[in-house]
Amino acid sequence: MSTPHRAERIDLAAAFRWFARLDMHESVANHLSLAVDDTSFLINPRGRHFARISASDLLLLNSRDGSTLERPDAPDPTAWYLHARLHEKLPEARCVMHLHPKYATALACLKDPTLYPIDMNTMRFFGRVVVDADFSGMALSDAEGDRVAGLMAGGATVLLMANHGVLVIGPTVARAFDEFYYFERAAQTLLTCYSTGKELSIVSDEIAALTERQWREYGQLSIDHFDNLKAILDAEDPSYQH
Ligand SMILES: [Zn+2]
Repeated sequence: MSTPHRAERIDLAAAFRWFARLDMHESVANHLSLAVDDTSFLINPRGRHFARISASDLLLLNSRDGSTLERPDAPDPTAWYLHARLHEKLPEARCVMHLHPKYATALACLKDPTLYPIDMNTMRFFGRVVVDADFSGMALSDAEGDRVAGLMAGGATVLLMANHGVLVIGPTVARAFDEFYYFERAAQTLLTCYSTGKELSIVSDEIAALTERQWREYGQLSIDHFDNLKAILDAEDPSYQH
């Protein structure tokens, strides 16, 4: 098959299939995108369940094409406004993932949504999370996309969107997927601790910062993680590659 960007399509399709297996997606909403050059990016088609998305289904859009939403196969408008502006404004964010997973979304709905450093997974995100406290309805304008891109400009990898969900950026599908996976695990641990009603044991900023740096030296982990997930799909349901 000679489809352009074949490897990128396969990686992104694998991420859709795995988020569905992990039940981190919601209905036929939520979106993942991957830049393939300075202006073009792949994204899921509107209204398609993550569990049914294959490599050839992904839309290839131009972030500067103002007529995109008039196409017969136009993407979801909220996906367009967020992802097109993020790819345009943050070229380092090759992969942009937006989901409403159970625990991270619950965290985003707390008055204090701080991901306190209480275990290695929560410490991984020390200094990497920006909280967008200004939920103002669905993202349906370029201005909203630009505002979100501005919040991510300081080097954060996670945008915790109050009263809404989470957005993660990364240099590759594997890195962004792994970041999202661990963020959801971290939120699950924190909320499980809250559910006990007992006091949290929060480590010092120094220990949290050290552990966050140590995580960065484990970059291969995210690659191994994603390679294993693709190998499982290859064995059980290789249709994502179609
Ligand atoms: Zn959303």
